[in-house]
This record gives sequence, C-alpha cells and structure tokens, in this order.
Amino acid sequence: MVASIYSPEEETKSIWICLELKAGTLTPVSRELLTKGRQLAKEANWTLVGLLLGNKVENLTDEIFAYGANEVWIGSHPLLEEFSIEAYSHATYQAILDGKPSILLFSATPNSRDLAGRLAVRLRTGLNADCTDLRVDTERDMLVAEVTGFGGGILAYLESPHHRPQMATVRPGVFTSDKLESHSSRIIHQVPITLEREHLHTKTIERVVGEGIDLTQAEVLVCGGRGIAGDFASMEQLAEIFSGEVGATRPPVDEGHIERERQIGQTGVIGHPKLAIACGISGAFHFIVGIQDANTVVAINIDPEAPIFEFSDYCIVEDASLILPPLIQALKEKHKVIHD
Ligand SMILES: Cc1cc2nc3c(=O)[nH]c(=O)nc-3n(C[C@H](O)[C@H](O)[C@H](O)COP(=O)(O)OP(=O)(O)OC[C@H]3O[C@@H](n4cnc5c(N)ncnc54)[C@H](O)[C@@H]3O)c2cc1C
Repeated sequence: MVASIYSPEEETKSIWICLELKAGTLTPVSRELLTKGRQLAKEANWTLVGLLLGNKVENLTDEIFAYGANEVWIGSHPLLEEFSIEAYSHATYQAILDGKPSILLFSATPNSRDLAGRLAVRLRTGLNADCTDLRVDTERDMLVAEVTGFGGGILAYLESPHHRPQMATVRPGVFTSDKLESHSSRIIHQVPITLEREHLHTKTIERVVGEGIDLTQAEVLVCGGRGIAGDFASMEQLAEIFSGEVGATRPPVDEGHIERERQIGQTGVIGHPKLAIACGISGAFHFIVGIQDANTVVAINIDPEAPIFEFSDYCIVEDASLILPPLIQALKEKHKVIHD
C-alpha cells in the first residue's frame, strides 16, 4: 500500500473546506460545506478551517467566520485571481502540507472536482466523490462518507483509515446552509504562496460565463417526466403561477424536450424546494434524491401504484394531459383573485 504524504499520526484535528468563489463572492455550495463542516467539527471537537484562495479576498473572511469557521487560511496572489488548475493545485498543496488537515472537503463542481482529483494523487490519498452525507466517527477520528453505488441501488459507507487527508466532494444542494447568530473566532492565517507565471502552462484569455440557472435555490420545482410526453409548456405555466422553476427527469432531457441543466436527481440537481410538483414521473430513486428534502410533494400519475406516491404528500391519480389544463386554469383564476 502506498503511504500518503502525511500519516494519520501527523494530522491536525481539523476539517478544511476548500472554498470556491464566483464573481468575488462565496458560492452557495461553499456555504453549505462550511455549515456541514461546522456540525462535524462541533461533534468531533475539532477546528473548522476555511481555505480561501484568490487575489485580495480578505473582505470575505467575516462571512466565512459567520458560517462557523474557527480559522481562515488565505492564499492571496495575483496569479490566483482566476481559477487555473495549475496555480490552484500548487497553492492548495502548499497550504495542506502546512496545515495537515484530517479532513478536506470540496464542492463537486467542475473546477473543484478537477482540483480535488489532482490533489488526491499528489497527496497519495483517496477521494470519495459525490458524497450524499458525511459524518465523523469520533471514537476512531474517521470520516465516514456516504455514497450511492450500483446505479443508486445501495448506499455505501467509505472510510480512509490509513491515508490523510480524508478527502470528499459534495454536490451543490446536498446540504443546507445557515449562518451563526454570533461568532467569536478571528484567526486568520496567511499562506505563503510561491507562484511564478513561467511555471504555469495555461493562461485565461477570455472568460465566458453561461447564463446558468441555479435550481438548487428554487423554492418551487415543477418537474415533468416521461408521462407528460414533452408537454413542458404546461410545466412552465404551472411554474410561473408559483414563481418557481421547471425541472425534469432524465428521459425528457435525453429526448431533447428540455435542457440538461434542468435535470433533477442523482446526476442532475439536488434541490431543497418548499414545494415540488411531479407530473408523469414514476419515482425512481435517482430522481427522488433530487426532491427528497422538499417540504411538500404533489404528484400526478396515471398509475395508482406508481412509487412516486410513496414520497408524496398529495397524490393525484389522473392522466396529466387531462388534469393539467383545468388545474392550471383554476390556479390562474385563484392567483388572479388573490392579486386583484
Ligand atoms: C446512474 C444513473 C443515474 C441516473 N440519474 C438520474 C437523475 O439524475 N434524474 C432522473 O430523473 N433519472 C435518473 N436516472 C434514470 C432513472 O433511473 C429513471 O429511469 C428516471 O428517473 C425515470 O424517469 P420518469 O419517471 O420520467 O420515467 P418513467 O420511469 O418511464 O415513468 C413515467 C411515469 O409516467 C406515468 N405516466 C405515463 N403516462 C402518464 C399520463 N398521461 N399522465 C400521468 N402519468 C403518466 C407512468 O405511470 C410512469 O409512472 C438515472 C439512472 C441511472 C442508471
């Protein structure tokens, strides 16, 4: 077995969150990881550290403390202004060797996935990807990472007993975020960054930001499945009434009825809506994980035995093509009465 660069005996009892920025602010998933990290650190009585890389990002430290970090480690350098895998992996590696965290958590976003994978190889440790939950076994100081396996058929619990840091990535929306009422920590540690332009082989020439939608933050999700036969116009009308967003299961995405970024579920978006409406959806596990935290689920399905009904608060057994037009009409009228 290949030994990791540092051993469990050398670790510091700390949980590090590799924070991600977008347009100079913390991403929602970074706040979610800080909130989860705070819970784990409290249970284990360890230190929660936010690792912040960028250029002149000191203004974000208050927010990081407000989400529960005991310490913020800042790596500030002009070459860290934009994410580049070489610069970020170099700087993060330097910080990790300095701090030797027990646990290191990343967002499962394209940049952080890339970063986490490279670092795991450099540190010669393991990486648990796309975890659906995390806990610390405080008896053994062990991170226990929950992942789904065999196409969602099983939940597996993974541990890394002999390697450090214990690394994991978590997708946006898996955890919720909340700030502390008050916080007293103010330990800021500057990470010395040695970076030279000539050591970097890539350079950002132009940054094109797509007009992505963030369904993880939607309060209402109106989801259509194969059973609506591509009628996403009705989904949009329903979503508009509730000021919500339209989502979908995989089949209509694969069939090109709707953009892939609106796919809900294990390989799509995991939401925390107050209300989820599922139309013509069977209720496969892969989809359910995307709405399982909804406060209220309403399902419309022609089949009274459809599994979706087991996860629903309100079950409408009906042909969606028959019930949706009068339902939308009635809701529009009610909405009009309320707003007139
Ligand atoms: C590794 C892996 C990852 C996956 N990731 C995802 C994911 O992230 N998200 C996801 O959604 N899927 C995912 N899937 C696919 C998933 O397993 C299911 O196949 C999919 O969710 C089924 O979509 P559906 O409910 O729309 O279709 P179906 O399972 O075909 O169900 C259609 C439903 O519509 C009902 N229906 C039919 N006609 C009508 C009507 N006229 N009115 C009302 N109801 C009607 C039927 O009774 C049925 O229950 C994944 C699969 C794998 C293997």
